[in-house]
Amino acid sequence: MTDYAEVIERIYREVTPYWGAGKVADYIPALAQVDPRQLGIVVDTLDLNTCKVGDADVPFSVQSISKVFTLTMVVRLIGEELWKSVGREPSGNPFNSLVQLEYEQGLPRNPFINAGALVVTDRLISLYPRPKEALIDFVRSLCGTDDIYYDHHVAKSERLHADRNMALAYFIKSFGNIHNDVETVIDVYCHQCALAMSCTDLARSFLLFANRGVNPLNGEQVLTESQTKRIGALMATCGFYDESGDFAYRVGLPGKSGVGGGIVAYMPGKLSMAVWSPELNSYGNSLIGIEAFERFTTDIRSSIF
Ligand code: GLN
Repeated sequence: MTDYAEVIERIYREVTPYWGAGKVADYIPALAQVDPRQLGIVVDTLDLNTCKVGDADVPFSVQSISKVFTLTMVVRLIGEELWKSVGREPSGNPFNSLVQLEYEQGLPRNPFINAGALVVTDRLISLYPRPKEALIDFVRSLCGTDDIYYDHHVAKSERLHADRNMALAYFIKSFGNIHNDVETVIDVYCHQCALAMSCTDLARSFLLFANRGVNPLNGEQVLTESQTKRIGALMATCGFYDESGDFAYRVGLPGKSGVGGGIVAYMPGKLSMAVWSPELNSYGNSLIGIEAFERFTTDIRSSIF
């Protein structure tokens, strides 16, 4: 059996020389202040064995990784209906791009670019009377801990610098594809981005996808097998924006990144893994995170391909 602890400890030593090669997100002051030289790596297996190294238990801003949780909450309630409002193709554009929206008539390419995530958040608001509370309860149930919270400092900073996301939301609304008040949508969106979780939490929460839609902590079937496959397919094709092809090429796992520097991915039927290192590459993905993942799947000689 593979000794994951030994593997991630070695990877930790191999990737720390890359410190300084990327750049911490600076579009909001709250993220620009994060100490860049942090690195956590966690592997969690379906039998709930966790291996960790470095800053594995430090909570950080999950940012766009939250798009997987909101998508899961919406898909489990309305299923295929969602795809009338959001596409399922990679965009090939940066996460916050506006360009495709006009000629595609307000129908975002996929739920992981900001435009698509805003539509998903809009549906979350329509479906759940208290969406922010519902989201945090859902994530807590996946992590098996109540120690998950919204970082209100980040949420506020996010809201103060949300001009582009506001523009996206108003533009989509002009096509009738956002149903709620834009201010409310942006408020929930800024909070979901400001969810604070550690690598340990993130890896645990993604066991759901590795386990065919069943929460391994309580046996609850959260998603059907088919819904799990579909969300996994979206992560594999769109989870890293315009670097999704390269992540598939180098790593070969479905996963999701956020500009807080977190990446979480999983191997169906086996394990999940989370890496956090705040310095980003030019696509807005953790530079050291991708290095670590590439080494991991190369080392254990296993991927979905
Ligand atoms: N809060 C960020 C935004 O909407 C999230 C982006 C990301 O993590 N890629 O711009």
